[in-house]
Amino acid sequence: MKGHIFDIKKFAIHDGDGIRTTVFLKGCPLKCVWCHNPEGISGKDQLAFYKHKCVNCGACVQVCKCHSMKDGVHTFDSSCCIACGKCVDVCLAEALTLYGKMVSADELMPTLLEDKAFYDHSNGGVTLSGGECLLQPEFCAEILKKCKENGIHTAVDTSGCVQWENIEHVMEYTDIFLYDMKAIDEDVHIRCTGVTNKIILENLKKIDDAGKKIEIRVPYVPGFNDNQISKIADFISELKNVTKVRVLAYHDFARSKYDSLQMKDTMPPDKPEEEQLAAAKEIFKAKGILCE
Ligand code: SF4
Ligand code: SF4
Repeated sequence: MKGHIFDIKKFAIHDGDGIRTTVFLKGCPLKCVWCHNPEGISGKDQLAFYKHKCVNCGACVQVCKCHSMKDGVHTFDSSCCIACGKCVDVCLAEALTLYGKMVSADELMPTLLEDKAFYDHSNGGVTLSGGECLLQPEFCAEILKKCKENGIHTAVDTSGCVQWENIEHVMEYTDIFLYDMKAIDEDVHIRCTGVTNKIILENLKKIDDAGKKIEIRVPYVPGFNDNQISKIADFISELKNVTKVRVLAYHDFARSKYDSLQMKDTMPPDKPEEEQLAAAKEIFKAKGILCE
C-alpha cells in the first residue's frame, strides 16, 4: 500500500535518540496554534509559494494558468491549483514546493537503509512523525515492520489523538513512542490545539500499561501552556514506562510557511526565556523524572 508523506529528514537529532531519519506523514487532527509543520496539517497535497525566493522569471506562467505576471511581478492564484507539481519542476529558484506525495514502504526503504551505519553507531534509527503519522496506521506498521526486519530502532512521534486501534496496529514494531503532551486542563488543550485531550490522556495510560517505552515531549509556549507544567509532571509521575521528558522551547522559525501556504498565521509572539525553560525542567526533575 502507499502512504501520504510530505518530507523525509535525514540526520535528524531531535526526533528521538541518536542520529535518525524522520519520515513526516500528511494529515493531523490537531491545529496547534504554534505548529511548526503547518504543511502537515492538511491531508491533501499543497503547493507552497515562497515569495522571497521568487526571481520573477515567469517560467511557471508557461505551464499553468494559476501563475501570472503583472508589471514584471509574479502572482499565484491558489484557488485554481490542483497540486499537480508541474510548475515546481520549472522553477529553478525553488520558490515553489509541493508538500505531499504518495509512496510505498518498499519505495521508502532504500532511503531509510542508507544511513544504517550512522543509526548503529549513535543508537539512532527511524522515526515516523507528521502531521499525525498514526492517521495512516497500516502504512506506518508496514514501514516499522520492515525497519525491525533490518535491525533498525523505531520511534513513533504522535499526538496520541487517534483511535486506540491505530496505536495497537503499530505497537509490535515500535521501540519507543515519542508522545506529545501540551496540557492537562481540557479547556487549555482546546485553546491550544482545537481539540479535547481526553483520548490523548487515555491512550497514553494504555501505552504505559502495555509496557512500551515512552518519551514525553512538552512544547513550552509562553502564554499558552506554561501554567500546565506542574500538572503534566503530576500526570507523568504516575506512569511506569516514561524514559524521559523533553521540554521543547517554542520557536517561530516556521512562520514563513504559513504565508507560503496562504494559511492564517497563528504562531504566538513570545518565545520562552532560558530561565523559564530551566524552571520547567526542574519541576519534572523534582518528581524524579529524567528531563532534558
Ligand atoms: S501545482 Fe500544478 S495546478 Fe498548481 S500551480 Fe503548479 S502547475 Fe498549476
Ligand atoms: S518559476 Fe519560480 S521564480 Fe520564476 S516566476 Fe515562477 S515562482 Fe517565481
